[in-house]
Amino acid sequence: MSLSNALCLDSQVALVTGAASGIGRATAIALAEAGASVVATDLEEKSDELAETLCSIEKNAHPAAALTADLSSRAEIEGLVEQASAQLGPVDILANVAGIHRYPAPLLTLPESVWDETLAVNLKSVLALCQLVVPPMRKKGAGCIINIASDSAFDVIAGEGPYGISKIGVTKLTAYLAKELGGTGLRVNAVAPGWVKTPATAFMWSDPEMLEQAAQDIPLRRIADPAEIANVVVFLASSLASYVHGHCIVVDGGRIAGVPS
Ligand code: NAD
Repeated sequence: MSLSNALCLDSQVALVTGAASGIGRATAIALAEAGASVVATDLEEKSDELAETLCSIEKNAHPAAALTADLSSRAEIEGLVEQASAQLGPVDILANVAGIHRYPAPLLTLPESVWDETLAVNLKSVLALCQLVVPPMRKKGAGCIINIASDSAFDVIAGEGPYGISKIGVTKLTAYLAKELGGTGLRVNAVAPGWVKTPATAFMWSDPEMLEQAAQDIPLRRIADPAEIANVVVFLASSLASYVHGHCIVVDGGRIAGVPS
């Protein structure tokens, strides 16, 4: 199979969460460029931004849809998967990108609401979505899940406890699912980005001094563009990654190089 054929996602249906912004938007666009029919989803309050994502996806002339759902609610997640399948067909590729980062959040004085919200959005929703998309994937004997973790999962940064714990949970969840999915033909992997230029990190990259400080900590001396994370998601979704299963690919310009993951 040629390289371009191996990367081709024609006739695949992809569901991308967090698609109104940053890495989620870039992922939705990249999957559509690779040929997938994409369902982009985000919060109701992000409808305008989601519509912009849909506009970019539709340029690729494949079927596409935008749906809103709050991933902290199991009922809304169930409704989302039902609507996505009704509109474009059963999901072949699930990209769990949505995430939140409440900072600073020291653990010992952490309000329970921040703990609950962080785990609900960053970790529980990932499992709920997997539970819902896997049965039809099993029937087909094919399917691919990519979960977005963070290189913070492998680091201990003051005030990032809930976030780091949720993200190491994502990597562990990915590994456990990989074992449970053995023999099914399905693949599941995670991607752990380092600093990426998105609205979530504007507090850092819009301050030249903070940006320079962050860059000094990164061997490639710059933060990533969202497309550089999306490209790895497309690779994992494609048959180029046919033997990659149960792992977390760190995409952080080398920031945590050498740290076991
Ligand atoms: P972002 O804030 O630009 O986008 C996140 C999206 O998730 C938003 O559109 C938001 O509305 C959506 N979202 C939040 N809560 C939701 C909920 N309850 N239901 C549905 N959608 C919800 O962030 P980003 O920087 O693009 O981050 C995307 C993912 O990448 C996150 O999981 C984040 O933890 C991870 N990540 C980001 C960076 C970075 O430097 N930007 C680094 C490592 C990991």
